[in-house]
Amino acid sequence: MMRDPTQRCDESICWQCGAPADPGCAYVEKLAARRLHHDSLGYPVTYSRWHEYLTLTIPRCRNCVRKGLPVGLSIIAATIAAVVTGGILSDWNGVWIFLAFIFGSLLAGLTARLYEKLQGRRSLTSYPPLRWLLKNGWYNPGSA
Ligand SMILES: [Zn+2]
Repeated sequence: MMRDPTQRCDESICWQCGAPADPGCAYVEKLAARRLHHDSLGYPVTYSRWHEYLTLTIPRCRNCVRKGLPVGLSIIAATIAAVVTGGILSDWNGVWIFLAFIFGSLLAGLTARLYEKLQGRRSLTSYPPLRWLLKNGWYNPGSA
């Protein structure tokens, strides 16, 4: 069932991963529109003579703000672990160390991809109220 796009999302939950959101980590997007009485979905709107400006916040958790780095670091750590394990098991035979390096880095890369997929992180641009607003007369003043 499709959710009603005019409904605001639960702002106590991180949009990207579903964890409890941290108010200090919310992503703030400013949108603008000509003064034509656009539906603002209840977000705060300020008015200038010709335009109206809307402030949309996308709830996020601390984790999603600093995503990426831990994943990259664990790929490197897993690869090193595989090389060391391969070296010890093969009495530091160069061929086996090389194979362990290939196998370890491939496996770590695949695991990291699977990990992100399992987490099901959603992108900020897929936030339903944002998509709805952009379709209904609002635009991003930075990109216009
Ligand atoms: Zn999150």
